[in-house]
Amino acid sequence: MIRNITSLLLLILSLTALGQKESHTKVLLLMGSRFELTAVSPDQEKAIKAIEAGITEIKRIEKLISSWDTNSQTSEVIRNAGIKPVIVDQELFNLIRRSIKISELTYGAFDISYASMDKIWRFDGKMKTLPDSSAIAASVAKINYKNIILNPEKRTVFLKEKGMKIGFGAIGKGYAANKALDIMSKMNLMGALVNASGDLISWGKDEGGKDWKIGIVNPRQKGKVFSWLNINETAVVTSGNYEKFVTINGQTYSHIIDPRTGYPVKGLSSVSIICPNAELADALATSVFVLGKEKGLELINQLKGIECLLITDKQELFTSKNLHLDYIQKPITNHKYQIKIGNEHAK
Ligand code: ADP
Ligand code: MG
Repeated sequence: MIRNITSLLLLILSLTALGQKESHTKVLLLMGSRFELTAVSPDQEKAIKAIEAGITEIKRIEKLISSWDTNSQTSEVIRNAGIKPVIVDQELFNLIRRSIKISELTYGAFDISYASMDKIWRFDGKMKTLPDSSAIAASVAKINYKNIILNPEKRTVFLKEKGMKIGFGAIGKGYAANKALDIMSKMNLMGALVNASGDLISWGKDEGGKDWKIGIVNPRQKGKVFSWLNINETAVVTSGNYEKFVTINGQTYSHIIDPRTGYPVKGLSSVSIICPNAELADALATSVFVLGKEKGLELINQLKGIECLLITDKQELFTSKNLHLDYIQKPITNHKYQIKIGNEHAK
């Protein structure tokens, strides 16, 4: 399905009808990203308790997987690259094992060992010139998920090469969103939603007692939804190059790195993955970014229950085979979330 949306900027709105069930939302910075947690319940105390439980869970995960925190197990693994295997918690071990599975599924497009490049490309606005190509070559040589050696009996992780690193920037937020929602869903609410900077996952009903929904609107006709997605029990995760990027000599470089070249990927401006699992959706959104339009859609079309909507840098919209957008227009009464999936900078 191809739809030309030249200079059309898409916004996703998550809508909640004005309803009988109260919802409570908290917005805060976690894992270096903006998280929004919503709990639907007529009992405010219950809702607040559930939100706090979700936040505690996200903070716990951050401590385990952060590569910034020198005390984390992940940092311990990195410090021992090329030296020795490190015993880690089963949870971290399993996350790494799932990450490697996704590398295998995506022909290496997704690779948590991309992190050896993290000193080369900086997306905080400080980098003014392109990195030295020999520095890129030296770092890219360290990227290879096959050199992440797992020992399930001893529960150890060993990065085979000196200088190797791992990072969960492309999967951690989705994992945290899954886990937080899981905890909230067991706390006697009507519904809950976790939005990790555009990585959304919902459970139960919205405050109107209806299925959670997101609408995609054309901002040129503010308030006119041109398609709707029912996101009940489903995650919608978007990777875009409009948030973290650097511009050098008029060229924009995105924060997603092609593990084969060590250079930021080009071609797409936004990828959204829709599937029941936010972690998998997070990792696949990044993977499709690296694989590009053709190979990316080909992969998604082979996976059951996983759909994709992408926007190229020419502002064309493509979807996977089974993604049917509902083009019925409905008036917006009240909206709570607004997430861009278009590329502002390409306008
Ligand atoms: P967003 O932060 O926009 O949700 P993603 O989920 O796509 O972005 O993750 C991008 C982050 O993933 C990068 O900032 C970086 O930390 C990490 N990363 C970059 N390239 C890769 C890659 N090829 N494989 C795995 N992780 C990557
Ligand atoms: Mg991702």
